[in-house]
Amino acid sequence: MSSERYEFFKVIQDYLTRAAKVLKLDASVELMLSQPKNELIVHFPVRMDNGEVKLFKGYRIQHSNILGPFKGGIRYHENVTLDDVKALAAMMTWKCALMRLPYGGAKGGIKFNPRNHSSAELQRITRRFAHALGSNIGPDYDIPAPDVGTNSQMMAWIMDTYMNTVGHVNKQANRGVVTGKPVSTGGTLGREKATGQGVVHCITEWARESRFSLEGSTYIVQGFGNVGQHTSTLLARYGASLVAVGDHSGYMRSPEGFNPHKLAEWVRSHGSIAGYPSGQSITREEFFSTRCDIFVPAALEGQVGEAEAQALECKLIAEGANGPTTPEGEKILLEKGITIIPDVLANSGGVTVSYYEWVQNKRSESWKLEEVDARLEDAMKRAYGEVSDFARARNVDMRIAAYCIALERLQTAYRERDIFP
Ligand code: NAD
Repeated sequence: MSSERYEFFKVIQDYLTRAAKVLKLDASVELMLSQPKNELIVHFPVRMDNGEVKLFKGYRIQHSNILGPFKGGIRYHENVTLDDVKALAAMMTWKCALMRLPYGGAKGGIKFNPRNHSSAELQRITRRFAHALGSNIGPDYDIPAPDVGTNSQMMAWIMDTYMNTVGHVNKQANRGVVTGKPVSTGGTLGREKATGQGVVHCITEWARESRFSLEGSTYIVQGFGNVGQHTSTLLARYGASLVAVGDHSGYMRSPEGFNPHKLAEWVRSHGSIAGYPSGQSITREEFFSTRCDIFVPAALEGQVGEAEAQALECKLIAEGANGPTTPEGEKILLEKGITIIPDVLANSGGVTVSYYEWVQNKRSESWKLEEVDARLEDAMKRAYGEVSDFARARNVDMRIAAYCIALERLQTAYRERDIFP
């Protein structure tokens, strides 16, 4: 399924409507959450290495700040659209509410392919974008983080640009304007792997609940970037074997299992899985029909449509990516008895540890990795338990359960605060 044809925001609105029905949510709350609060589109020029000037289109969508500052990643991808960013921003609102984080939801992005640019160009693009956003971001207002195509280095550039252009007093207090920074620049230990770690906590909770042994089990992963790599290496520790993998360059299978550490190393030095000297090359269709126990989508939205759902032969899908399963695909998967741990729960480890980073910045502290890990484990297990219990008690799937829990918390805040004036 092509992500260009995927009406992502409409899909998210439909889930909101379905969950609102289950909860009998106040109509006014559903209405307020059905659209983002602010939609910012900026165009900014950047000089390329060859002297040419290019104009870039950037987005920042601020969906809700009823529970705290806007929070959400920044994506660099050639297919970024307003519709996608709106959907992703809304999902951040549900995710932060579900995880009991004092944040609202936001998302941003620039429509371009970062692979076509040098590091110097990426730095200028990132800094000009941060400058164009100006005081529309801020440590107590809207806090970006990495997403597809961005990393800790880009967060350091955004932080530095923000510190040097907005608010001259107390520069250090502005470090919290972004999370997912390098550890030496105010980041936290454990953030890099946090999303994958959270996915794996969800998988181990599911395995415990369903009395499934991960030892000797198999998994396949689509997308081998931050989320795909960390999920894969952490899951391997439980004795599970990565039997197929894919990214933007293609797909590969290895019945005896890939070494996810070595594959991650290869991707870090070569930019993709292409040319990895082990396993055999397969088609996208063959990837989705690879028999396995667990499938982790960790690439983009709209990847699992009807055809992929029909092909998939697994017990569990843990959505590392945001919005990977289409509603049509989901219907088929649920009918086949495949459990789906939904994105807003499965990949919430990233924003959870981002929150720990932000707290450390505010307090000028740096926590030990063990402390970050222990807090994340508690948070993920609690959230998984809440979603699983709700799903069972109300006879809904885990996605609707996660939405319901988040919406209930948002509704409480709206009821207490009411509408200004
Ligand atoms: P990334 O840029 O590090 O990696 C993206 C991966 O997807 C790459 O391996 C890329 O090759 C692959 N990919 C891109 N287009 C593809 C295509 N058409 N087919 C197959 N593979 C393709 O990004 P990431 O940070 O790992 O994010 C992946 C997903 O996880 C996204 O949906 C993102 O929103 C979500 N997510 C990320 C975080 C985080 O902390 N980074 C947190 C929560 C959710």
